[in-house]
Amino acid sequence: MLVDRLSRWLFLTAADSRLLKAAATRYGMRGPGSPAGRFIGGRDIPEAIESARALEQRGMTHTFNYLGEHVRTTDAAAEATMAYERVIDEVRAAGMECNLSIKLTQLGLELDPGLCEANLEQILDRAGASGCFVRVDMEHSALLEETLRITVAAHARHPDVGTVLQSMLRRTPDDLARLNEAGVPVRLVKGAYREEPDIAFPEKRDVDRAFIRLAETMLEDGAEPAFGTHDPRMIRAVNTAAAARGISAERYEFQMLYGVRRDLQAALGARGYGIRIYLPFGADWFPYFMRRLAERPANVLFVVRSLLHEQLGAHRP
Ligand SMILES: Cc1cc2nc3c(=O)[nH]c(=O)nc-3n(C[C@H](O)[C@H](O)[C@H](O)COP(=O)(O)OP(=O)(O)OC[C@H]3O[C@@H](n4cnc5c(N)ncnc54)[C@H](O)[C@@H]3O)c2cc1C
Repeated sequence: MLVDRLSRWLFLTAADSRLLKAAATRYGMRGPGSPAGRFIGGRDIPEAIESARALEQRGMTHTFNYLGEHVRTTDAAAEATMAYERVIDEVRAAGMECNLSIKLTQLGLELDPGLCEANLEQILDRAGASGCFVRVDMEHSALLEETLRITVAAHARHPDVGTVLQSMLRRTPDDLARLNEAGVPVRLVKGAYREEPDIAFPEKRDVDRAFIRLAETMLEDGAEPAFGTHDPRMIRAVNTAAAARGISAERYEFQMLYGVRRDLQAALGARGYGIRIYLPFGADWFPYFMRRLAERPANVLFVVRSLLHEQLGAHRP
């Protein structure tokens, strides 16, 4: 338990480090066998589309995330906005369903909320014309209020906009009531960021209990409920709660991260549950990858094994 907490702390600290990010990005994802490659769906849009097609062939849907967060210049925010417009165009040209997951700090939320809103609006105009759903990811709690405000306002103009709530936060039942009232689709997750105990449950069992209670509310009152988890206990609880309310599996979906619990993704898909895979792509993979390591210490062993394999492989004749 102590080791788990320590490793979580370590990797979440690394996720925030600009120095490590710069070094890692230079090292890059050197091919499909690289450790980060397991969790990242490609370096660019064509590679992401190829990964999405492979998911579709296995009966799953997807949501594209162009990796990036906490941009420091308005140019970088504009670049991300244009990248998302290109994603919409290219995904549509490929004849695929279009569903995006976007972080507002990538669109400049920390520089200027007005600019961020304008960038989001630009993406939503393009998305609306293409029948593309846009989900606003939830980041650290310091950004929560502004993220909700922007998302609710955007949803009033564009119905195909949703967001994410985190069961680890004590305030989430109130936020869920607000979003349900406004008809905003919610993806429920446990929460991937480091938070203080006065606002977040420090114990995993409390986060899990809250997840189940919130899931029940979403099934009863939510628009297009989505559950972002790989936890078989949460999945069972959602299915049991839905069955008890006579809600069929087509009325909600599970969402999982690319490369995580692929066995579970396949097993649930085979049982007829809707599975949407969060498909991140692009060069800015380091913070996302560190959060995945923080979630599961066993992933670190996977990374070490991959690196050793790469090194040994490189020295073989
Ligand atoms: C589609 C999707 C979107 C998300 N969007 C957001 C968001 O917008 N904001 C946010 O704060 N968080 C987001 N998250 C992350 C989420 O908050 C959790 O940190 C993450 O999903 C791990 O929690 P869990 O529910 O899977 O259960 P846990 O209790 O953490 O894990 C349950 C089991 O799942 C497996 N598992 C979990 N994580 C991993 C991993 N990284 N690698 C390998 N196996 C793993 C393990 O078998 C583990 O025992 C998202 C998650 C998903 C699936």
